[in-house]
Amino acid sequence: MAGKVWVALQQRGDELHPMSGEAIAAGVRLAATVGSEAEAILLCAEPGTAAETAARYGAAAVRVIQHPSLGAYTPGAFTGALSAAASTEAPGWIVLAHSYQSVDYMPRVAHALDAALVPEVIDFRADDGGVIWTRPVFAGKMQAEVRVRGEGPVVLSVQAGAFPAAQGEASAPISTLDLAADITPDREVLGVEEVAGEHVDLTQAPIILAVGRGIGGAENMDKVEELAAALGAEIGASRPVIDSGWLARDRQIGSSGQTVAPKLYIAAGISGAIQHLVGMKGSRCVVAINKDASAPIFAISQYGIVGDLHEVLPALTEAVKEAKA
Ligand SMILES: Cc1cc2nc3c(=O)[nH]c(=O)nc-3n(C[C@H](O)[C@H](O)[C@H](O)COP(=O)(O)OP(=O)(O)OC[C@H]3O[C@@H](n4cnc5c(N)ncnc54)[C@H](O)[C@@H]3O)c2cc1C
Repeated sequence: MAGKVWVALQQRGDELHPMSGEAIAAGVRLAATVGSEAEAILLCAEPGTAAETAARYGAAAVRVIQHPSLGAYTPGAFTGALSAAASTEAPGWIVLAHSYQSVDYMPRVAHALDAALVPEVIDFRADDGGVIWTRPVFAGKMQAEVRVRGEGPVVLSVQAGAFPAAQGEASAPISTLDLAADITPDREVLGVEEVAGEHVDLTQAPIILAVGRGIGGAENMDKVEELAAALGAEIGASRPVIDSGWLARDRQIGSSGQTVAPKLYIAAGISGAIQHLVGMKGSRCVVAINKDASAPIFAISQYGIVGDLHEVLPALTEAVKEAKA
């Protein structure tokens, strides 16, 4: 059997980070592709509910590396723990979610293991004795297919929305993975502070109402908020809306914002520039509202409404309210 596929998990508080479910889905598919099995590895000070949640995503096993230094994230402790465990057990692949935390320490893990590094994987397939990885390049304008040369482990991260998480009834066994080496954090975390209620994680939203420059100004945002409330949607935006200060930066979608893959994406007054499309083209159903029938956003939309959003948004709000009444 090929070396095992490890999936390094991430905690949010005591819980499993939602992107870790997607990483397990990628790991399980990779294991099936290469004829191996996937194990989920939880690095933590306290497993909380994360290990039990992870056990329901289809991995063959969940193994917990527990150490007081793995509470508040530090790259030194996480790199030390994961690379020490991997040096001993020699997995063939280490899969991580492409989160801010993972991209901070996965290159260090790859370096420590002398492994190949493939970030931001959106797909893969088997090829004569190896795996071909698909990943975006040039800010998503193109996709590259890459193969890793030589022998040895591969460390990879998977992009949000590329591998939908699948939770099942069955629960994998949970065990402890003892470290042979001790861990030394490379810095002391004095405290962790949430940015006051401002951070919005759009990656997990099932419905997103995204607004573009066509909205015309912050004074028109009430129309957007009303439709979002009626739909139960999160509000996202194109970059000009953020740069103009009409919405907070954490609502930006695109190459320099968040990458999302909701079930429903409504793009209102957004032209469809490539830097925006790379952040939302994984959406299952796209509805575009634009007064210009030739706007590029219509080319990637399942439904299009050609019209003035100042009329269309309130009309949709009414229609949604009526349908729900
Ligand atoms: C390095 C780099 C990174 C970038 N990163 C991002 C990114 O992460 N995300 C991002 O979005 N962009 C990004 N951009 C900017 C990107 O190139 C586009 O400029 C931007 O996406 C355009 O935003 P928009 O569609 O809202 O505005 P516009 O392109 O100006 O389009 C506005 C649209 O609204 C329509 N409209 C106007 N009025 C109405 C109305 N009353 N009713 C209906 N429709 C109307 C117009 O017909 C038009 O199609 C980046 C650019 C660069 C160079």
